[in-house]
Parts: sequence; structure tokens; C-alpha cells
Amino acid sequence: MLRWSIATVCMGGTLETKLAAAARAGFRTIEIFENDLTFFSGKPREVRAMAEDLGLEIVALQPLRDFEGAPEPMRARNFDRAERKFDLMDELGASMLCICSSVAEDASGEVDVCARDLADLSDRAARRGFRIGYEALAWGRHVKDWTQAWQIVERADRGNLGIVLDSFHIYARKNDVAPIARLPADRIALVQVADAPGILMDAMSLSRHHRCFPGQGDWDMTAYLEAVAATGYAGAISLEIFNDQFRGAPANAIARDGMRSLQALGEALDQTRLARGEAPLAISRALPKPAKIAGVEFIEFASSGTQSTRLEAELAGLGFTRVGRHKSKDVDLYRQNDVNIVVNREQDGFAHSFYLVHGPSVCAIALRFDDPARALERANALGAPTYHGRIGPGEALIPAVAGVENSLIYMVKAGAHNAWNKDFDFIGSPDVSGPLERIDHLSNVVRRSEFLSWLTFYKAVLGFSDEPQVELADPYGAFYSRVISAADRSVRIPINIADGGSTTVSRFIEAFGGGGVQQIALSTKDIFAFVERARAGGVRFLDIPDNYYEDLSARYDLDTALIEKMRVLGILYDRHKGGEFFHIYTAMFDQRFFFEILERRNYDLFGAANTPVRLAAQANEFDQGLRDRAMLETE
Ligand code: MG
Repeated sequence: MLRWSIATVCMGGTLETKLAAAARAGFRTIEIFENDLTFFSGKPREVRAMAEDLGLEIVALQPLRDFEGAPEPMRARNFDRAERKFDLMDELGASMLCICSSVAEDASGEVDVCARDLADLSDRAARRGFRIGYEALAWGRHVKDWTQAWQIVERADRGNLGIVLDSFHIYARKNDVAPIARLPADRIALVQVADAPGILMDAMSLSRHHRCFPGQGDWDMTAYLEAVAATGYAGAISLEIFNDQFRGAPANAIARDGMRSLQALGEALDQTRLARGEAPLAISRALPKPAKIAGVEFIEFASSGTQSTRLEAELAGLGFTRVGRHKSKDVDLYRQNDVNIVVNREQDGFAHSFYLVHGPSVCAIALRFDDPARALERANALGAPTYHGRIGPGEALIPAVAGVENSLIYMVKAGAHNAWNKDFDFIGSPDVSGPLERIDHLSNVVRRSEFLSWLTFYKAVLGFSDEPQVELADPYGAFYSRVISAADRSVRIPINIADGGSTTVSRFIEAFGGGGVQQIALSTKDIFAFVERARAGGVRFLDIPDNYYEDLSARYDLDTALIEKMRVLGILYDRHKGGEFFHIYTAMFDQRFFFEILERRNYDLFGAANTPVRLAAQANEFDQGLRDRAMLETE
């Protein structure tokens, strides 16, 4: 039976922790890496008992290295080593030993020699009831491609010897996956899956540091598994991910992400098969289809005291009107066209707890779905439980799940003017116009170690797609961004991470105490008129150095009066394929968040060309803040 599996090497912590995490995430099959046994304080048979208690089958012991093609006397020693692994497998209750192609300098690459070694080993294994799997490492001395490994396995011709397929080595070597479909199913010992980002790097470094779960990288995992499925293979499909960030994260979260990514992969695979009139493989229970995302319904700020006063003054400066007051809580609703902002000043409950940990911040986002009930069902099925918070009298029950740093993602019905409005007493008309039309995008800053996890959450759990990663310079390090977007692009969220302790992203994480919403981008039809009015209304914008505008006039044939106007107002500019983009950033609010106001003229990007300018200006603003504070303290 086809089943999902995970290698212990994917997770950090002790072997006990890893097994428990795998079982908890729903895995029934695991691969054990010998290192994990070496560091385990008990006996291998205790591992066997532990696995049995957790309902886990140990599908393989990994790896036996540098085995085939060795000259004597190394060859004899290799067989002794293998026998010791067989003893271990007996105790463990593992049925297969995986061998990866030799990297030894003196190894022979002769197919006949390697085949003879594997045949002899398989015969010894057969006497003890074991199977042998042989895998091509992309950096093997002679055997690098799966086709070479297969040639040796075929030549050895033993019933208990099969090939181990690993998408990592196959894609790292740019091997064609289609011919996999012609392999005899009973000669495939094990199928491993690993994705990786499409970056240029030698295969070994890429493997050791950048392997990731399916859907977190750029490789075509569906095509790979389609070819595997076409053989009729009916064994374990196992995650084998070496990744420093994964080992540093809690094992439970990694196992959960692994299962999420496999379930989404299985779903994609079955969709492809159904479209071709083939039966679904149904490796896991069918998931509720992702609900259609149709925009942001509201953003909720947790705030208090004078911070709230400043925040609300800024909202007013940006053209928002306070339209509603909550019937039973210290919560106000600000609105402008389609943009709803909720300011929660409660001294109790979820928002307040969030405020105590993170300060003034976005504590919740409500997303519009065509079918919020199904969106919630899918989230639950993928290990994102429904948030059950304290709901006060007269409050609408809005289903929610936990998002980044335990902020909430509310799920509301698109189109219906919404039940949650009934929580508010409206001060005047509920419909207010203004210069800002809609939420263009939101940016999430996350810890580097959590980046892939949130990517899987947004994609597999909520049904977003992603765009290729962008890498930029921050004056104090590096800045990376990957945009996730709804199919209709009504919601787009760049997820940003950084390297370097003083980057804007790092300062945010430090001030905020974790990841969160750093940027709220709002669109307007006339940014110039908007900024003039907002500046007059006291809104502070980020100071952009004059050099930027000199550079702009050198790069583009823009009207000098227009550039001067942009300089005076602090507006930034980008151009792409004939489209134009004008945008501006508000000053950072307590090192936590800022608004971006933008005007798109046939332009669909995010002005990444100006991100280094923004990051540098924010760094200056921060440094100036430090200097101002030092002055105050010395005076
Ligand atoms: Mg492998």
C-alpha cells in the first residue's frame, strides 16, 4: 500500500521525540538514520518497542556508505560492517537496509563489479529475511544518476534488491523523471521525496542545507510521483530532508509541516490523475478542497492607551472614519471604501493578551472565502485547529485559526455584508468613501527558521500559491521575500525574512517578539493629492534621501517637475513593462508596522527595486530615533 513516511533525519531532538512527533503528525511509517541510534541512550530493541507502541513501522535503516566496488581488503570489511547492520536491523525490526552509492576514491565504477557486490550482499540479506535498497547520490564517485543505479540493480538481479529513488538527487542531476514510469514496481525498494529552491549551488551543499518539504521549493514533485505511481509501486513515500532550520525547530512542528506538505502533494497528484481519467491514489484521506479566497475583510489592531490614541490619529490622517463602536467592548471600527480596520483596546481577552506580548500590532486578519466553513474544515484536516476564544455577549462567532505568532486568521463569507458588522453600533452611515480604496497587500515578517513552515501553512492549509523568491540587500544584511497570493490576486502577502541582526526585519522581530504583519499597503487613484492632504493632516512619512531622486532622473526620462514633486512629497517610483508605480511609506510605528500607500498604473509588482531605499531609510529613521533618545537622556 502506498503510504507516507518520514526519515528521522528531518527532525531535531532525541530519537524518542522524533518518533513521537512523527506518530502525532499521522505518520505510520518511518526511516531510521543510524546517527539517531548512535545518540540514543537505550538499546535498539527499546526503539523497536517505542515504535510499536506508537504504531510506527520502521521501513528502513539508513545508510550503509561506500560499500560497492571496494578493493580488498576493504571489500571483506564492508561485508562485516553490513552484517553488523543486519544484527541491528534484527533488534530494530527494520526490514530494509539502504545503501547510497560510494564516494570512496578507490571504488570501482565497473557495473559488473558493483553488481556482484550488491548481489552477494543481497544473498546474505536474504538469509536473514532483509531487503537491500540502492540509491544514487548526486555526488557519488561513479554512480550519480538513478539510471546508473538501476543498471547495477538490474545486473545484480536479486529479488530482494531494489532501487531507492530520491527526488533530490534526481532533480539535482537534472535527470528526466518520465522514464521512472517504466521501472518494474517490485524492484523499487523505497521512494524518497525532497524539494529544494531553484538556486544555483553544488548538489552537496544544496542537499545538506536547503532540502525542504514538497511545495516549499521549486521542483516538480507531482511529475516525479506521477512517474512513480505509473509503475504500480505500492510502498512507502518518505520525506528525507536535511535542513539546519528544520533540526532547530520543534520536532512536532516539522512533522506536522511534513504531513501537510505530503497531503497537499497527494491532493495535487490525484487532481492530475482525475483530469486524465485515472483513479486517484488516495494516499491520505481526501481533503476538503481549498475555498476560494476573495479579499481581506478587516484587519484588527490590538492597542492600548496613548499608543491607541496615536494609532487612531494616524488612521484619521490616512482618511479613515470611525464608523462604529462595538456594542459591548472597547473596540472601534474604522472604514474607508472597502478597507475595514478594527482597533481593539480591550483590557481582557485575545487581543489584549496579544498586545501584552507584542505591543501595538495587527492581532488578526479576516479573510473572505466563498465557503468559510469548508476553509475551516480543510484547515482542521491539515492540523490547524479552530480557535476557540472567549466570545462576549452580542459578538458574532467568526471561525478562526491561528496564524503567524498565534495571531488569528478569521474566515468570513465573501459578498455577504457581514454578520460581524452587527457587533457594532454605527455612528453615521456605514459606507464611507475616501482616497484609499482597498488593501493591496500585507507583508508578513517571520523568523528565518519559520519561513518554510508559514509558506506551507499559507499554501497547503489556506490555498494560496507562491511566486519565486526575491533576494535584496538590506544596509545591515540580506533581505528575502516570497509572495503568496490568492488565485484572483485579491490577497497578496509577501513573506519576508532576513539575515543580519540589525536589518529592518530583525529589528521588527526583536521589537515585536516574533513574526507578524509589518506592512499594510493601501491603494489610491491619486497618490499626489493623497500625500499632500495626509502630510497636512499630520501623517509622518519616511524620509527619502535626495540622492534617490537624482538617481531616478538619471534612470528614467521623467519630467523634472514630476520628479521634484515626488521629492518634495517623498514618493518613490518604479516602472515595469510600460506600467508605472508610485508609492510612499509612513514612518514606522514603534518599530513594528507601517502603511504603504500606492498607486498602480498598469503595474503588477511590488516596487522591489525601491526596497533597498526603503530599508536604508528605515535604518536611518531608527538610528535617528536612538540618537534622539540618547540626547534626551544626556540633557
Ligand atoms: Mg536519499
